[in-house]
Amino acid sequence: MPTYVRTEKCDGCKGQDKTACTYICPHDLMRLDKDGSETGHAMKAYNQEPEQCWECYSCVKICPQQAIECRHYADVVPLGASVQPLRGTESIMWTIKFRNGTMKRFKFPIRTTAEGSIDPYQGKPAAEMEEITDHSSLFTKGTHSCDLSQFHSS
Ligand code: SF4
Ligand code: SF4
Repeated sequence: MPTYVRTEKCDGCKGQDKTACTYICPHDLMRLDKDGSETGHAMKAYNQEPEQCWECYSCVKICPQQAIECRHYADVVPLGASVQPLRGTESIMWTIKFRNGTMKRFKFPIRTTAEGSIDPYQGKPAAEMEEITDHSSLFTKGTHSCDLSQFHSS
């Protein structure tokens, strides 16, 4: 089941070049309807292909306006219930609403190190992207050897 945008909450990410939801969606599904010609709601985002949605929740978590909700499968989250995350810098708060009105909240840490403190290369040289086709310069050169000639018929 896909995501949907609450148009009354979405502010189109204030008209920036790329909205948060279009940036994060791994399946390229979220779009901003700039002039309203596609949905009738100008400057509001929408899921352009709901049946392709992975329900990965990335757009739900990143939306700064909490405007995106995800409809889960009925056997997990029946109609009238909802599962909504609120992402902070240190933790994420999940609000679970049961359809009988019961509400539960769970807070989980999302990182163990200070933001921006990770050194992705840890002393190793950064990749030179222009040399990416030159296999001799790859850091992992020599750790795997594969003789492709065996797959080619002469
Ligand atoms: S991230 Fe949220 S506020 Fe920004 S365009 Fe998408 S739905 Fe709207
Ligand atoms: S839940 Fe995941 S796949 Fe679906 S629209 Fe959001 S980011 Fe894309």
